[in-house]
Amino acid sequence: MSTDVTVAQSAPGPRTGRRRLVKVLPEDARRHNKSLVLQALFPEAELSRADIARMTGLTRVTVSDLVGELAEEGLVRELGQKESKRPGKPGTLLSINPYARVLVALDLSDSETLNGALVDLSGRVLSRDAVTIGGAVGETAVTATIELAQKLVAVADRPVLGVGIGTPGMVDADGVVLHAPNRSWESVPLRERVAEALELPVLVSNDADAAARAEHSYGGRAETVLVVHVALGVGAGLFINGKLVHGHRSAAGEIGHVSIQDDGVLCACGKRGCLETFTSVPALRAQLDELTGEPTDLSQRAAILSGAGEKLSRVVAPLVAAIDFDEIVLSGPLDLLGGDLVDSVRENVRMRTRSAFRNDVPVRTTDLGEDTVLLGAAAMVLSGQLGVS
Ligand SMILES: [Zn+2]
Repeated sequence: MSTDVTVAQSAPGPRTGRRRLVKVLPEDARRHNKSLVLQALFPEAELSRADIARMTGLTRVTVSDLVGELAEEGLVRELGQKESKRPGKPGTLLSINPYARVLVALDLSDSETLNGALVDLSGRVLSRDAVTIGGAVGETAVTATIELAQKLVAVADRPVLGVGIGTPGMVDADGVVLHAPNRSWESVPLRERVAEALELPVLVSNDADAAARAEHSYGGRAETVLVVHVALGVGAGLFINGKLVHGHRSAAGEIGHVSIQDDGVLCACGKRGCLETFTSVPALRAQLDELTGEPTDLSQRAAILSGAGEKLSRVVAPLVAAIDFDEIVLSGPLDLLGGDLVDSVRENVRMRTRSAFRNDVPVRTTDLGEDTVLLGAAAMVLSGQLGVS
């Protein structure tokens, strides 16, 4: 096994035009290699030790050693013999044991209710809990978040790997919520606060980034994907070549406040005609609530949702042109996003970006239902604690 290696990392360093060189300690290399083994098995692969060696480039001896350690920790289990037509002893199939640990996941994106769940390693929701905060903000909302996490930890029947939180607003790499206007949070060290109270690893990210993580880890698993999360606001999470893009000031994907109509209604941010004023859940519900229930309303409803999709496509199309995504996924209330809205986004993005050198990008709603932020919060813990995604 390698003991003392120096590798180039593309982590942000001083802008010298060169990659930062980081010395890797033996224990880091071992941890890294264990992550490689788990990654080969994630989320639901069944492989022999020889398969894993082939996939990871590690030697069979190293793989056997690491699998032994992971089995002792309960994370990997043996399933039985692999069927083989070749002569010789067949390999034993291995998988991740999804029940070995549990993840605490919190979705803070609703203004009235904080939602939480216990999630197993394969992304299955085991139990749920929620607290109604009735629009509470500031310190009250922080305390409610901690209490919800504590309640979930208290009912966990196996070791808790960590706590993942998806929250509205801009979140930095240290889990500080820099700016979440609907919670009145300014520079709130949410990760530190929850970690101190629970004495567990805690990871915090923006809700749209969490939705993107869910799609990357448990959904379509595309490597270069744009996930548009429609909730109180409209945000996007971008995975490019398997890496979540954070941006210079943790503000990548903040598409909701792109102005698309100069004389549109005034937005909370001070500009006019922001995307959020057309396509957020409150904006859509308000327009639909005005419908009277006459037979013509079905076409009116379709017109409202198609119109919102067209507005969204104005912001998404330039991103498609710039990044060339594998696919676009919409996440949020599926009664609003499915059907007319997603069809309109697909058609309008196609019209705005079509060219000889580009295939139409697939546009769909998420297959993960309305748990995308919760599952993404869980995926963040998996990535942070076990190195798999
Ligand atoms: Zn705005």
